[in-house]
Amino acid sequence: MKFTNLTRAEEIGANSYLLEAGGSRILLDAGMHPRAAGAPATPNFDALGARGFDALVLTHAHQDHVGCLPLAMRLCPDAPVFMTEATAAISDVMLHNSVNVMMRQREELSLPDYPLFSHREIERISAEWRIVNLRSRFDLSGERATNVEGVTCELFDAGHILGSAGVLLRAEGRRIFYTGDVNFEDQTLMRAAEFPEEKIDVLVMETTRGDSPVPEGFTRKSEEVRFLAVLQAALDDGGPILIPVFALGKSQELLALLHGARKAGALRGGFGLYVGGLGAKVTAVTDRLRGSAPRHHGDLRLASCLPMEVVGGSDMAKLPILPRTIYAISSGMMTENTLSNILAPRILENPAAHCMFVGYSDPDSPAGRLRASAPGDELVIDGRQRPVRRQCKVEQFTLSAHATRDGLLSYVQRAQPGKVLLVHGDPPAVSWFAREIPRVSPRSEVIVPPPGQAVEI
Ligand SMILES: [Zn+2]
Ligand SMILES: [Zn+2]
Repeated sequence: MKFTNLTRAEEIGANSYLLEAGGSRILLDAGMHPRAAGAPATPNFDALGARGFDALVLTHAHQDHVGCLPLAMRLCPDAPVFMTEATAAISDVMLHNSVNVMMRQREELSLPDYPLFSHREIERISAEWRIVNLRSRFDLSGERATNVEGVTCELFDAGHILGSAGVLLRAEGRRIFYTGDVNFEDQTLMRAAEFPEEKIDVLVMETTRGDSPVPEGFTRKSEEVRFLAVLQAALDDGGPILIPVFALGKSQELLALLHGARKAGALRGGFGLYVGGLGAKVTAVTDRLRGSAPRHHGDLRLASCLPMEVVGGSDMAKLPILPRTIYAISSGMMTENTLSNILAPRILENPAAHCMFVGYSDPDSPAGRLRASAPGDELVIDGRQRPVRRQCKVEQFTLSAHATRDGLLSYVQRAQPGKVLLVHGDPPAVSWFAREIPRVSPRSEVIVPPPGQAVEI
C-alpha cells in the first residue's frame, strides 16, 4: 500500500493525495493553491505518472481541495468522481467563480494559460459527478458494496463546512481514513464531525491548527459571546465594521450567528448588513439543501433571516461606508482583488471604523499583515496601490471551522492508528503533532509524507 503527497510543499496549498491500495489508485481531493498562480497553484499531477488514477473522492468544496478538479478529470476522464450532494452543488458555484477569477488574472499576471478550464467544461464534468450519501459503503464503480472484496469507500460527516466529509477506505483488510478538513466541535450552523470510532490502521490527518494553542478556559460559546459584545460596542460606537469572511462556510456561519443573536436580544438596535455576491450564491445553495445536509437550524433560511444587501466587484467603488453597518464580505484573508481588499483602505483609514477577524489568515496575506499591525502603521494592502495608514480598530476572534489541535490529538488517541500521516499544515503545525502524537498513541508511527514521493504504508 502506498501514499503519495501531490501537494507541492509542506503547506496548506493545492491539496491532493494518491492512495494505492488493493490494486486500485484513488485520488483524494484536487485543490488549487489559494495564493499561488499558474503551474505552482496546481497539484503535482506529474507524479501520478502514466497510470493516472482509477477513482477520485472529493472531501469538500473549498478551493484548496476542489480548485483543480477539472484538470484531474481531464487526465483520467473515465475515473468516477465521488462527493456528497452539498459538495457537488457548492463545487459548481466555486469552480465557475474560479474561471472568472482566472480570466481576470490572465491579463493582470500575464498568464496566457489562464483560465485553466472553462465554464463549459465545468457544465460538462459536473454532470458526471457521482453523489454519495454519508455512511453508505460503495465500491469504486459506485455500486453499493455488498462484498468485502476489493476497495470500498464510505464518507463521514466532517463538521467543517456544508457537505464536508472524511473518507474511510477499506482495502487489503485494513482501514485507511482521510480526515479532509474537520471540526470536532459544533459551530453555529455546522454540527460537530461524526467520525468512525473504530480502530483505524492508517490515519491521514489535517494539521491546520497545530501551531495554535487553545487558551485556558476557551470555548467556542464564550468566544461567540465575546464577539457579539465587541460587535455591539462597535455598532454603538457608530462605526462601520468590516468582517472579512470566506464566501464558503464563514459567511453562512456569521449570518446564522447574527440572526440567533438578534432573536435572543444579544444584539440590540438595527444595523445595516452588506454581503458579497459569491457568499450570497453559497448561502442560496445552503438554503436550498436545508434539511438534506447535516446542520443545526435546519429550517432557517439564511438569505432572508436578516435584512441585507448583496454587493459585487463593480459596486465596490461606489459602496457607501455607513455608520452602524456591517460589511461581511470575502475574502477572509483580504486577498488582492477581492471585495474585502478593495474596501479595506476606506475602512483602515477611518478612525471610527472596526475590522473584526473571525477566522484564519495566512501571516503573508494582507489580513495577516493588518492583524500584526499597530495603530498608525503603514500597510501594503494592494501591491499596486500606495500603502495605507491604519487608523481603524482591529479585533480578532477564534471562530475557526477547523478542529483544535487538542481535538485532533484526542481523535488519534481514540483511533490508535498504526500509522499517522500528517498533511494540510505549515511546518510548525506539522511538527507539533509529530512531537505530541507519540505521547497519546505510542504505538503509532508518525509519517510526514514528502511532496512528490510515494511512501510505503
Ligand atoms: Zn476547508
Ligand atoms: Zn483545506
